[in-house]
Amino acid sequence: MYDNTNLVVGAGISGAVIARKIAEKLNEKVLVIDKKNHIAGNCYDYRDKNGITIHKFGSHIFHTNNDRVWKFLNRFADFNTYMHRVYAIIDGIETAIPFNFNTLYDVFPKLLAEKLETKLLEKFDYNSRIPILEFKKFNNEKLDFLADFIYKKVFLNYTIKQWGLRPDDIDSSVTARVPCLISRDSRYFQDKYQGIPLCGYSHMITNMLKHPNIEIKTNSDFSKYKNKKFKRIFYTGSIDEFFEYKFGSLSYRSVSFKFEEHKCAYYQKNSVVNYPDNYDFTRIHEYKYYLNENSKNTVIAKEYSTDFKLGINERYYPIVNEQNTELYNRYKKLARTYDNVYFLGRLGDYKYYDIDKAVLRALERFDEVFENKVILNFNKDLQVNIKEI
Ligand code: UDP
Repeated sequence: MYDNTNLVVGAGISGAVIARKIAEKLNEKVLVIDKKNHIAGNCYDYRDKNGITIHKFGSHIFHTNNDRVWKFLNRFADFNTYMHRVYAIIDGIETAIPFNFNTLYDVFPKLLAEKLETKLLEKFDYNSRIPILEFKKFNNEKLDFLADFIYKKVFLNYTIKQWGLRPDDIDSSVTARVPCLISRDSRYFQDKYQGIPLCGYSHMITNMLKHPNIEIKTNSDFSKYKNKKFKRIFYTGSIDEFFEYKFGSLSYRSVSFKFEEHKCAYYQKNSVVNYPDNYDFTRIHEYKYYLNENSKNTVIAKEYSTDFKLGINERYYPIVNEQNTELYNRYKKLARTYDNVYFLGRLGDYKYYDIDKAVLRALERFDEVFENKVILNFNKDLQVNIKEI
């Protein structure tokens, strides 16, 4: 009965993009299932009684340099021109991260900041981006103090809280997401396009899935459909789960959010404030900033990180290391022997995708499968631009 239908497992951003492409471009039927009671996966948001749009699974800020992704998403949502900033409490001082020249002047006395700025400019190109682990390796007598300071005050304890590991014990690409900026740019992202969908992510994904060829079933586990015959399966769940953990489990970090409503217009000065060195939570999100929503009260969420445990919490972040990559590669190899089953998304690819990379991956997956395009260097964009140092 499903012989002519494509099954998409997972109604998050990756599943929604591939479903839309198949429905629209191929004019084929698509059944999208999700075990959760809602669509939009971890991008899920909703308006609460205060009229504040809450990102249930943590702040999601869209940013991309990719025109194709931007154009595609703009078919389904209008975005505001929000440019994300993150503040961190360093030695009790609220200052911008990524660490940049503004941070330097916030945390150090002026004379010291000036000296350090001069030394940085002697060493690095203006506007370059230096991952902290590269900066530390650099062994420059004059700048070692600063590298150590940033490592200890911004990265060390935050990373231990977030990953249960020290920065040196996780893949270097993780901390490289927040490089030190040799400039006065204190935005969290430098991408050409940034913004929040004006009617929310859930609305954007609802629009994407709104197509006569698409049927959606929430509260529907893949196990119910496993033995049915579909034309093709696009699986955005965890690849080890699909193969019933036959080679072992891939590890993930999970996060949880403690929501609080406060009887004041604003709780903090910014949408996200990080606490690298204090408390057990990593950061506090205050949601009304994203869409500039007016309300008497405000809602915040304190974010805690923990290991993923099957049946207890949700998978959020793949823990990329040699052992997990090897395990994932075994699953990937096995996946290639399956006809008409395709994996994608953060969990299907076991990759730390941002929203734009998940969208691009889904668009390119479609090109690969249906237009026989070979996608080389998909992860090219993920690499951090380390200028000559
Ligand atoms: N990080 C940190 N201190 C900070 C911000 C980030 O140590 O104040 C490190 C930490 O290891 C984190 C990684 O940089 O997991 C990537 O941060 P990002 O904000 O990109 O994480 P996401 O928003 O995806 O959770």
